[in-house]
Parts: sequence; structure tokens; C-alpha cells
Amino acid sequence: MKVTDYLSQSSGTLVSIEIIPPLKGVGIESIYASIDPLMEFNPIAINVTYHREEYEFKKMPNGLLKRYSVRKRPGTVGITAALVNRYQIDAVPHLICGGFSREETENALIDLNFLGINNILALRGDSVNNERKFVPEPDGNVYALDLIRQITDMNNGLYMYEELVNATKTDFCIGVAGYPEKHFESPNLSTDLKYLKMKVDAGANYVITQMFFDNKKFFEFERRCREVGINVPIIPGIKLISLKKHLNLIPSVFHAVIPEELSAQVEKCRDNSEVRQVGIEWATQQCKELIEHGVPCLHFYTMAKSHGTKKVLESLF
Ligand code: FAD
Repeated sequence: MKVTDYLSQSSGTLVSIEIIPPLKGVGIESIYASIDPLMEFNPIAINVTYHREEYEFKKMPNGLLKRYSVRKRPGTVGITAALVNRYQIDAVPHLICGGFSREETENALIDLNFLGINNILALRGDSVNNERKFVPEPDGNVYALDLIRQITDMNNGLYMYEELVNATKTDFCIGVAGYPEKHFESPNLSTDLKYLKMKVDAGANYVITQMFFDNKKFFEFERRCREVGINVPIIPGIKLISLKKHLNLIPSVFHAVIPEELSAQVEKCRDNSEVRQVGIEWATQQCKELIEHGVPCLHFYTMAKSHGTKKVLESLF
């Protein structure tokens, strides 16, 4: 079923979870172990993130630099298929522009369609660790907007080459990313919302937000979205602080501000088990207020760790 069908058929707040594939070499059981404890809360879907390989450069004896891969994660298509099979649940693979030609993207979409997976979260992706700004493949999509257009074309039966045999219409439901505190490259929220609106006009069916720790940011973002005519469901993304180092990591990697009150509480903790408790309590309060506000769904960035999310869900439902 499509994510938007779940949202339109429910009057209450639903739950979805997001997992990150483990590094290659770790088995699928590690993913199951992080999902199993959350299944009693009936998530509508499990999102599976996609990560480009990370590279480093080594100087060779001849003075030339050799590029080698340091972090590889298994492909999203295989993991989503395994999750659908094990849990009979809808899985939402993340598809990114970075590292993919348009033809490779088309092939991935054909594979997903073949497997009966009809939900996609369409993203641009970030730059790889040795690049200062995002560089698309020479023949790849540049913005999430271009990827959405490619998916929408396939939904209308338009593939890259007219000669393709059996070019049937796909039926993908498309989610996109939104940023309550604006995307870090964007000069301001108005500009960012202009592009978010273009993504929706191009066929995006719903928005999942970047994590945020101050609900006022989400409420204002939602208000501004409605003001500019973005009328699709907006799902808040929730992340639990669980380590002291998150105070620096989250703002630098995800560009989300940690409110002073939350950082003061974390600073006071003597160890990470106390931090985890602070994170659970903060996220629980956030979620209670978001439910009261009437959000259609809460999307948990579990990062493949279920303990904290389970505690939050136990207090909510
Ligand atoms: P876009 O919507 O393309 O926007 C990128 C920037 O360009 C923004 O500043 C925007 O304002 C601007 N822009 C957009 N369109 C145009 C245009 N047509 N012309 C000029 N400027 C434009 N990353 C991963 O690598 N893998 C994942 O699995 C992943 N999952 C995510 C899930 C969620 C819910 C979220 C919120 C983010 C996720 N990310 C993931 C991170 C995401 O890839 C980065 O934030 C990335 O920098 C931007 O992606 P986007 O799809 O928002 O890009």
C-alpha cells in the first residue's frame, strides 16, 4: 500500500521508522534485531536509507593518488525486499541522485517496480566526503526535483528510451525531504520552500522533515508550507539524542539546532545512559505535542537502534 493511502485512511497519528543499512560484512539479522521490538506499534512503513560509498586517497610510491573505498553498505533494493518478505510491511527505499546516472536510476526503479515496491523517498543526497559541494554524475539527476520528474515520467509510461520493450506505467508514491530549519545550502527558508513547492508540483505526494528538536520550528514550517500552497501531508522526523557527542554531531551533520534547554540537560549527564534518558523524555514531550497538533504520522530516525524509540512509543500509544 502507498504511504499516502495509510495517511488518508487514518484519523489518528501513525508511526513510521527509518533504518540505516549496516556496513557490508554485517548480516541482515542486525537489522531485524533493531526492527523486531518496534513491530508491536504497527509502523505503516520502514524507510531504508541509501548511502554512497565513502572514499579516501592513498599516495602511491610513484607519487600518484589512488582512490579506495572505506565504507560500503549493502544496496537498498535488496534490504527493502528482505523487509517486505519478513514483516509483510511496506518498505520505502531512499533513492538519491548522487552517484547514479539517469539510466542506473531507471534500472533501480524497474527493479523496485518488479518487486512490487511502490513507495520511494526521492532525495538529492549529500556530497561525498572528499567533495566540497554536491557533484552529480555527468548524466545523473542534479536535484531531487529532477529525480521526481524521472519517477513521474515512468508513472506516465515515459522511459528514457522509446525503444524499451515492455515499458509499462509504474505507480510510485513519492516522498520528499523538507527542512523546518531550511536546507543548509539554501539562503533562506523562502527560497527553500520555493523548491519544495516545485518538488510537490512535480509529483511528490508527501514530505518528511529533517529532524528538529523545537516543535515551534515545525509548526512555523508547516504554516509557511501551507501559505505557499504546499498542501500534501507533512510528516515530522524525530531523532532521539542518545550520546553526548550528538550535541556537536547533529548540528554539523544534520544542520538541526539543539535548544539550549536540551543541551543544558545533556551537559549535566554523567554518562550516556543518562543522556539516553534525557533524549527519551525530550522526544516523548515533542511527540505528545505533535500528536495533539494532529500530525498524520511520526517518523522515527532509529539509526538501527530501537531501545529509545520503543520507550517513547510505549508512553505515546
Ligand atoms: P534538493 O531538494 O534537491 O535540495 C538541495 C538544495 O538545492 C536545497 O538547498 C534546495 O533549496 C536547493 N534546490 C532544490 N531544487 C533546486 C533547483 N531546481 N534549483 C536550484 N536549487 C534547488 N541523504 C542520503 O544520502 N541518503 C538518505 O537515505 C537520506 N535520507 C534522508 C531522509 C530525510 C527524511 C531527509 C530530510 C534527508 C535525507 N538525506 C539522505 C539527506 C539529503 O540527501 C540531504 O539533506 C541533501 O543535502 C539534500 O537532499 P534533498 O533531496 O532535500 O535535495
